Amino acid sequence: MAATEPATKPGFSLELTDDQRDLQAWVHGFAESVVRPAAHEWDEREETPWPIIQEAAKIGLYSYEGLASFFADESGLTIPIVNEELFWGDAGIGLAILGTALPVAAIFGQGTGEQIGEWIPRCFGTPDEPKVAAFCASEPDAGSDVSAIRTTARFDEKTNEWVLNGQKAWATNGGIADVHVVIASVDRELGARGHAAFVISKEETKGIEQGAKVRKHGLRASHTADVHLDDCRIPADQVLGGKEKLDERLARVREGKRARSQAALQTFEATRPTVGAQALGIARAAYEYALEYAKERTQFGRPIIDNQAIAFTLADMKTEIDAARLLVWRASWMGRTGKPFENAEGSMSKLKAGEVAVWATERAIQILGGNGYTREFPVERFHRDAKIYTIFEGTSEIQRLVISRAISGMHIR
Ligand SMILES: Cc1cc2nc3c(=O)[nH]c(=O)nc-3n(C[C@H](O)[C@H](O)[C@H](O)COP(=O)(O)OP(=O)(O)OC[C@H]3O[C@@H](n4cnc5c(N)ncnc54)[C@H](O)[C@@H]3O)c2cc1C
Repeated sequence: MAATEPATKPGFSLELTDDQRDLQAWVHGFAESVVRPAAHEWDEREETPWPIIQEAAKIGLYSYEGLASFFADESGLTIPIVNEELFWGDAGIGLAILGTALPVAAIFGQGTGEQIGEWIPRCFGTPDEPKVAAFCASEPDAGSDVSAIRTTARFDEKTNEWVLNGQKAWATNGGIADVHVVIASVDRELGARGHAAFVISKEETKGIEQGAKVRKHGLRASHTADVHLDDCRIPADQVLGGKEKLDERLARVREGKRARSQAALQTFEATRPTVGAQALGIARAAYEYALEYAKERTQFGRPIIDNQAIAFTLADMKTEIDAARLLVWRASWMGRTGKPFENAEGSMSKLKAGEVAVWATERAIQILGGNGYTREFPVERFHRDAKIYTIFEGTSEIQRLVISRAISGMHIR
């Protein structure tokens, strides 16, 4: 009988590495000591918390190098861990700090090496003068249906410039950012396949202005606004990926050679778990707060957790949050290791985490009773903040559409 061979590959493990644990503790420390204590104030002020962004920049949590090092983790778990911990502190401030990651992901995913090197550091600014960046895809008549985008980009051969016109809606950091990544239609007849992404510096460019600032239900420390493009002229090389590549792609589409872009779908699948991790942070904050409250609050001569109705709710909250985290980690690992998302696992993770966050934060209000409904306690803010996670980055219905198409192979409508 042959001797047992030593295992060459580690078995399945969900244990975090020492580096991942250290990072988790570091971000949690910042969330607990800096973010959570400031959450109520900035929610009430409904303003971008620049001093806190600056603190995050000073410790390296908000920087090009920081984001690059989180991304370098080959397991894919670091990015969701950082997001969960920061958003546990506060989601509005969390998005004010990490909202820049969305335009950065677009530049990283679609830009040339030169564009990545030039534009990504500008998204962050410096620790002394931090900047934020914005991603502008949505429009008043193009939300879930991005193919309906009306903003146009026309190439002016005489000046070698792009000329953009249109109105963007709901842009996180819109107008207060320097770097804006704008999705515009180069050829309306081609629908979404005629779109391209442009990178625009607001400080250096005329014709890009902030429109109305949106007053919101939650995430109130995160700035959301319309962005107007009015004969906004930018140099030819500010289309992500380069003009030559865009011209080649459009020519292929016009000849009917290019099928529906699988690459774009795979990119969305890879970024959705990050958003799910943010929702998880809010859900966990609400669960932990409700658990402690239930142990301390006494009614009928005993702590309210002594009632199964309360204890079982907390048991369900913990179970659902942990289940959502497993989906988020699986999808993040798949995205980082290049595994194909055959069943839309990224969408599954965002769908589950968003729905769990709304449900768990509502349950937390119930456990706190009247106190839960007041602004003296944070759970009502957690609930307001959680709701966006069934809406942005693809609504829950759109996630279900993507999943049902992936599992059926049919074009479900
Ligand atoms: C706080 C906040 C921040 C945002 N940040 C950004 C940003 O930085 N950049 C950006 O580009 N956008 C951003 N958005 C926009 C966001 O992505 C859109 O709100 C979202 O995509 C939904 O679009 P909509 O609001 O137009 O809703 P609609 O598309 O009009 O949907 C309305 C309802 O109809 C449902 N529905 C639509 N189509 C279908 C269908 N085919 N099947 C079933 N149901 C359907 C939806 O699920 C939803 O329930 C932000 C929005 C908010 C509120």
